[in-house]
Amino acid sequence: MHIHSILPATGIDKGYSYKADEILPLGTYVKISFGRQDVVGVVWDNDVTADIPLNKIKSVSEIYDSPPLADDMRTYIEKVAGWTMTPMGSVLKMVIPSYKLLEEPKRPLQFFCMSINGGGAVALNKDQGTAAHDLCTNIDQGYSCTLLDGVTGAGKTEVYFEAVAECMRADHQVLIMMPEIALTGGFVDRFEKRFGTRAALWHSQMTPKQRMTVWKGVASGQTKAVIGARSSLFLPYADLGLIVVDEEHDQSYKQEDNVIYHARDMAVMRGACMKHPVILASATPSIETLQNIESGRYSEVTLPDRFGGAHMPDMHLIDMREDKAESGEFISPTLHRAINETVKSGEQVLLFLNRRGYAPLTLCRSCGARLECPQCTAWLVAHKKSGRTFCHHCDYGGRSPDKCPSCDADDSLVPIGPGVERIAEEVEAKYPDARIMILSSDTAEDGLKLQEKLDAIQRGDVDIIIGTQMTAKGHHFPKLTCVGVIDADIGMKGGDLRAGERTWQLLHQVAGRAGREVLSEGRKGQVYLQTYMPENNVMESLIDQDRDAFTSLELEMRKMANMPPYSRLAGIILSGKNEKTVEGVGRTLAQTAPRSDEFIVMGPAIPAFAMLRGKHRRRLLVQCSRKINLQKTIEDWLGRIDIPSSVRLSVDIDPQSFL
Ligand code: ADP
Ligand code: ZN
Repeated sequence: MHIHSILPATGIDKGYSYKADEILPLGTYVKISFGRQDVVGVVWDNDVTADIPLNKIKSVSEIYDSPPLADDMRTYIEKVAGWTMTPMGSVLKMVIPSYKLLEEPKRPLQFFCMSINGGGAVALNKDQGTAAHDLCTNIDQGYSCTLLDGVTGAGKTEVYFEAVAECMRADHQVLIMMPEIALTGGFVDRFEKRFGTRAALWHSQMTPKQRMTVWKGVASGQTKAVIGARSSLFLPYADLGLIVVDEEHDQSYKQEDNVIYHARDMAVMRGACMKHPVILASATPSIETLQNIESGRYSEVTLPDRFGGAHMPDMHLIDMREDKAESGEFISPTLHRAINETVKSGEQVLLFLNRRGYAPLTLCRSCGARLECPQCTAWLVAHKKSGRTFCHHCDYGGRSPDKCPSCDADDSLVPIGPGVERIAEEVEAKYPDARIMILSSDTAEDGLKLQEKLDAIQRGDVDIIIGTQMTAKGHHFPKLTCVGVIDADIGMKGGDLRAGERTWQLLHQVAGRAGREVLSEGRKGQVYLQTYMPENNVMESLIDQDRDAFTSLELEMRKMANMPPYSRLAGIILSGKNEKTVEGVGRTLAQTAPRSDEFIVMGPAIPAFAMLRGKHRRRLLVQCSRKINLQKTIEDWLGRIDIPSSVRLSVDIDPQSFL
């Protein structure tokens, strides 16, 4: 009769005691009943001195023969929980989302990527060769973190593939992380071409069987390579030897609910904890990463030029105050001319607008009402093709109304502002012969799958692409020579800490889609940014393609304002059905906050999303000197307060969003 302290994956921080008939090694996965549910638990320590009477202790109902969770992985889980200030059980649940993953499969599984089967490396040019050599020498040498910095099209992928190959030759596993929307078949095919075997893919849209195949393959060490979205970081790799974080600056690496974590930072933490190298790749590295290089914490390898002599595109600003679009339209005369010329010469145009649907706002001409979500502080977004008007945060809404819901007036609703569908309408009217495609996450709107669309663009079956954020990432469209950004100012409007940085990164990435092939007669791709603030330093440094100028100005501004990376921030978010109670907790927090020059607490403030999915919200913001232990200080403070169970409190360390 042995008693073990086991951590059930239910969002609870402490261990519970269970009985077993034999000694269980630490890290063993077990099935236990917790409350009324069967959950997976992990043996965390052997707590034989438990003073609860034996007959009150439940038994372990099943012991799985999956390899136990390794010591360093358990240490890592503890670190992640401490860093993100979430219960260990919640972190464990990311490692093992369901006990079903541990059960015997009904039929034998076909694991992915058991070894390298040949494939073909490309011959690297001189810069690429040097960079690849540097990255390869880090393999099997313990922890290191290196930024692979190079313009879009420089061949960063080819270069980190060399490190991936080196790591697999040393018989370790490899993880390549990407933003979810960049995880397309194209990249998987590219991996297969290079290595002669398919990597396992891990993302949010997998079937239970696919999940089990990858999880078991990884845990047993048989699957050597995973390409995955941020959650792939928490798989229980048997012997991980390298993590590549591609597009390291990407916002989608931040998970905003449940365990609030930044997968790039947690990848670096994993490397440090498990003693293997981490590669961060980007053409537009985050300010934090650049600062980590400046301070010597990370090292850097650079690829200064596009591969094969293709040039970076020419950048033009269009001042929308001068170069006005016709009333009710959104494309300026200058951009129209550029579209016309490009289509005539048989090349492709990308019009970029980071807004799904037809119009972000619908207004009643008769009573002035705006279609608003009753559960969120947000407008309902009209989608014309699907005939639906709904909230992008909670899906509230339905068939687009033909009468104003407030005053019942007929035909009084007018769309305000453009979404991609509306731009498509304008383009269709102007270029009736052009082949037009919308590329956004609403693929259901015209029934074609994303991959089919990407293939069609690649083949040149499309003249004008109208796309959201998902067009900005990674894709290589050989015929695309002209990019028009419909509203370069969108991202600047929120005015948060990183508005400038994000706008710079996104627009630079979008611009990088133009002219990736070598064009004849030394021609370059052409990029047009439509803006109402051409004198803004973000727009200016974009046009000059002067990243260093932008970075140093941005760092200087952050330093003056004592903002990250020079200080640290934490968001404290409160939410609940009763606004008064939420407000009350916010006040209590503010009153009891430890305060000093090194620990500043702001709020409670009513956030931009004052209400989300029917819950009222308040936010506090902590600004803390880098000398202070942020998490510990917050923990001590929160530990002194009783928070009613009707109010949910979450801490967001290093917040990316302030809404
Ligand atoms: P990045 O990841 O920096 O945007 P990629 O690795 O995707 O760049 O490379 C851009 C394009 O150039 C790809 O089509 C790639 O196959 C090609 N390329 C890069 N380096 C080489 C090379 N040394 N030999 C042949 N093709 C290359
Ligand atoms: Zn809503």
